[in-house]
Amino acid sequence: MPLNINGQTKLVGLIGYPVEHSLSPAMHNSAFAALNLSWCYVPLPVHPDRLGEAVAGLQALSFVGANVTVPHKEAVMSYLDEVIPEAQAIGAVNTIVVRDGQGIGYNTDWQGFLTALSEGGFDPHGKRAVVLGAGGAARAVVYALVQAGAQVTVLNRTLARAQALVRDFSPLFPALSLTLQTLEEQTAEAHLLVNATPVGTWPEVDQSPWPEDLAFPGHLTVFDLVYNPHQTKLLQQARAAGAKDIGGLGMLVHQGAVAFELWTGEKAPVETMYEVANKTLGR
Ligand code: NAP
Repeated sequence: MPLNINGQTKLVGLIGYPVEHSLSPAMHNSAFAALNLSWCYVPLPVHPDRLGEAVAGLQALSFVGANVTVPHKEAVMSYLDEVIPEAQAIGAVNTIVVRDGQGIGYNTDWQGFLTALSEGGFDPHGKRAVVLGAGGAARAVVYALVQAGAQVTVLNRTLARAQALVRDFSPLFPALSLTLQTLEEQTAEAHLLVNATPVGTWPEVDQSPWPEDLAFPGHLTVFDLVYNPHQTKLLQQARAAGAKDIGGLGMLVHQGAVAFELWTGEKAPVETMYEVANKTLGR
């Protein structure tokens, strides 16, 4: 991945805390190199107390933009000059574009999810989906699915967070509602199950949001946002039951591709990004 850094090199980065394990620097720097662009993507660990200073610093240092990750996706919105309506509706920003000195917030997770879902061969239109989790990623997934014409139910460990999600989305999606039905009851009628919790992420690879003692419904398509490991315990349970499984790497690559295109105006080299992400994960 030779970096061609010179006086005209453009800078982007990743604001998060921590950021050491992110695949995004390798993925984006290889994409820049593949297109022979003199751009550089750097990890920017930002303590939550200094988020405002960091966003002002991006603008002061003439960065073209940044990605934003945990724990800043919601909090960053109050430091931006503008948040586009989709990101506002989702309530989270994962991409900043600095244009004419103004910080503009986008959310590319929902597009990344839909593209990866389609790549996995699932069309959500008219389907019933169950989403596990009610955090920032779940919000992007719910937004994507409802926009694509699916009927969505959210199950979350903490009721208040699920209530907040439904409350925030209800002006946009009046059909969204809360349920007291169990995972088993919900998935019996569903076509798609999405894990938008971190359960099963390395090193907790023996964990799954699907209970061990509950038979897995083989009719489901299962999308796990977790991408490390590639085959999570949940996806192994799904596959063993004959269900179709889709891992989270496609979403990561495609949300990155949309951000890349927002910054550079060039079509992202998605194949390169997949290759590098897989290689970085040791696959
Ligand atoms: P978040 O805002 O912290 O939300 C996490 C959600 O998971 C919350 O609803 C939380 O429930 C639930 N949760 C956490 N631990 C749990 C447990 N042990 N059992 C049951 N529920 C649990 O995080 P996020 O930003 O939404 O990210 C969620 C996951 O998606 C992360 O693993 C992240 O890496 C992944 N992600 C992947 C992509 C991709 O491109 N593939 C993109 C974005 C995010 P409570 O409300 O009860 O705390």
